[in-house]
Amino acid sequence: MRLPVYLDYNATTPVDPRVLEAMLPWFTEHFGNAASRTHLYGWTAEEAVATARKQVAKLLRANLKEVVFTSGATEANNLAIKGVFEKYSYKGKHIITVVTEHKAVLDTCHHIEQLGGEVTYLMPDSHGLITPKQVNDALRSDTILVSVMYANNEIGIIQPVREIAAVAHAGGAVFHTDATQAVGKLPIDMTEEGIDLLSLSAHKLYGPKGVGALVVRQGVEIMAQMDGGGHERGRRSGTLNVPSIVGLGKACELAQKEMGAETQRLGLLRDRLEKGILANIPHTFVNGNTPLRLAHLTNICFEHVDGENLLLSLKDIAVSTGSACTSASVLPSYVLKILGLTDDQAYASLRFSLGRFSTEEEIDFTLQHVVEVVERMRVGSTV
Ligand code: PMP
Repeated sequence: MRLPVYLDYNATTPVDPRVLEAMLPWFTEHFGNAASRTHLYGWTAEEAVATARKQVAKLLRANLKEVVFTSGATEANNLAIKGVFEKYSYKGKHIITVVTEHKAVLDTCHHIEQLGGEVTYLMPDSHGLITPKQVNDALRSDTILVSVMYANNEIGIIQPVREIAAVAHAGGAVFHTDATQAVGKLPIDMTEEGIDLLSLSAHKLYGPKGVGALVVRQGVEIMAQMDGGGHERGRRSGTLNVPSIVGLGKACELAQKEMGAETQRLGLLRDRLEKGILANIPHTFVNGNTPLRLAHLTNICFEHVDGENLLLSLKDIAVSTGSACTSASVLPSYVLKILGLTDDQAYASLRFSLGRFSTEEEIDFTLQHVVEVVERMRVGSTV
């Protein structure tokens, strides 16, 4: 067993060796530019990109022409929100989103406000969920976009995306979802669920970092945010990162085949860890504790311990408080604060996210380690 045990799969995943193997020839042997139309090197690369496009589309039941490759989910979220705002601002300038979204959505919305847009930030309940009615009540005649994440990166709750999309459409708005933490973990059918725009990132599903996609349903228009050679049907210029795109495609293919069994296996391991912690350590509770949450994740608050000391003492496991993207700041997680936690409770909450390479042995070791460390920290305290 390798220490520290890696339980931070929501921050990033290792590249699956099968993904790496698929990528390697595209760095050296097949190095062509997918936009070179005049020779075999270009055609070969273009074909590889076409295959990856099929693999991504198949996983999400989307149409081939709908996949726009980007540098990741941050860019995809920017492209979706800014792209819709620019394209549809003649119809209105109002956007609806949720306070617990990832910063890649929230900060983009703040930017839109500086450009003269208006944004309504919905408040979820104490589990992190919002209702279609809340969206409906916030809709206005000038609402052009509703953006609600599929599954939350910190607590794993799953929003009622299908119902929210229906409400958005009835109000004449485009529906975007940041599905970065859901793709490859949950079965998604963009057409059935009425998702117009979907953001994803390869490094959350055993693909490489720095590549992702915005899937744009046919008929939905966005203004490109990167101008240049007109790649990706004019929606995102820039020479395509062929090896990474091949990796993303392969990761999607593997996810499609293995998602069912993997979710079941990880769900059992997660339950074992979660139940073990709750049963053996008093004053603990699960954040976002609803049946509607990702199977591989649990976010647990350890009350009456100092969060920073807790993390430092748990040196044999790699877990996180809050999301990696905001962890440069020493502020407590804004998501947990919104759920109603105090600063101390938020600091003392840990996200355990399991993944493809997590083992039973690692989970049992983690449970024992956490129980010992928390017990030791609480000795002498009044609780
Ligand atoms: N959205 C969510 C929900 C995420 O978890 C992340 C990654 N932390 C992102 C967006 C950003 O993705 P990327 O790293 O590909 O920019």
